[in-house]
Amino acid sequence: MNTNDYIALEEEYGAHNYHPLDVVIERAEGVWVTDVEGRRYLDCLAAYSALNQGHCHPKIMEAFVAQAKKVTLTSRAFRNDQLPLLYKMLHDMTGYEMSLPMNSGAEAVETAIKAARKWGYTVKGIPENKAEIICAADNFHGRTTTIVGFSTEEQYKKDFGPFTPGFRIVKFGDIDALKSAITPNTAAFLVEPIQGEAGIIVPPEGYLREAARICKEQNVLLICDEIQSGLGRSGKLFAFEYDNIRPDMVVIGKALSGGFYPVSAVLADNNILGVFKPGEHGSTFGGNPLAAAVACAALRVLADEDLIAKSFELGAYFMAKLRAIDSPHVKEIRGRGLWIGFVLDTPARPYCIALMNEGILCKETHENVIRFAPPLVITREEIDWACERIQKVVYAIH
Ligand SMILES: *Cc1c(COP(=O)(O)O)cnc(C)c1O
Repeated sequence: MNTNDYIALEEEYGAHNYHPLDVVIERAEGVWVTDVEGRRYLDCLAAYSALNQGHCHPKIMEAFVAQAKKVTLTSRAFRNDQLPLLYKMLHDMTGYEMSLPMNSGAEAVETAIKAARKWGYTVKGIPENKAEIICAADNFHGRTTTIVGFSTEEQYKKDFGPFTPGFRIVKFGDIDALKSAITPNTAAFLVEPIQGEAGIIVPPEGYLREAARICKEQNVLLICDEIQSGLGRSGKLFAFEYDNIRPDMVVIGKALSGGFYPVSAVLADNNILGVFKPGEHGSTFGGNPLAAAVACAALRVLADEDLIAKSFELGAYFMAKLRAIDSPHVKEIRGRGLWIGFVLDTPARPYCIALMNEGILCKETHENVIRFAPPLVITREEIDWACERIQKVVYAIH
């Protein structure tokens, strides 16, 4: 079978909820992937930051295989010997008192919403069924019915209603809008420290710091969705560190497993996550021993290979090189760490296709933005290699 055969099969028998580039990947290692024709590409998307540690990292692979041979799933009806180690590791790395494991990012966001509501009723004293959660415009928190209900992106929500009530939208980066949206019934403010899917939008300096202050003052929980921005992507363990804050809840996923397996979690202190009592929330696969072993290995790789500092340094290097590309079509280059939005004044997809033909895989986000977010194990030489090709493509398209 060749590329076209695989594409034909997929188009015929798969639901068409994606519009992928026509590259059929067969294997991958580190920052490089190989397609079924034997062509190699540098992966500049890293599965939306699930692959911060690089493809098929040998240390994570080892943990994955070893655990798969021992026990993979117990359900939470019984305990397993891996989950406690993940709890301890998350606590030691982040300073939060406890965590709650789930699978996908959306499930962890749902978990944070449930925790915030329950906290609102049982701790803050919000009247029954009146809890409100404030979200930012242009957010991306996943694809469940509740979550798309508070999206402002028409495409994510059209024809999927009716939606869960109790959410309010404020402009991202606008502190006065947040202030005036808070009522006595507000349980939480849910926000991405940097909006990834919206096009790597970094809020104005001090926004999160001020938001954290107001939330504290008004007894509102601040929930940061670090599913994409976290675990080194932004050049810090968490992007909220740029504002020197400590959110009440943090949602993580994606790179928590280094791309091997869906693993997500909510981090918070006992006064918040402690609201869940036995039987009130759960997941068959959440916290399974395979997920826990993989997540521990993935976190260990981040630390052992100093990937967070690498993201910070190489991100600045990559961004400076991109800024040196002089083209009237390039409007802005923004981001933090190895998480870069390359903003064009024209649709980005033709650029992504041209880049693919040059051996670089990346994806447009929104119409006009290319996201460059390679695995954090990328080297300076590989960034140089990529920038030569990016420059060539940008100069060729006029
Ligand atoms: C990817 C993502 C999610 C959803 O994660 P899934 O694993 O796809 O459910 C939620 N929030 C942010 C910021 C994300 O980038």
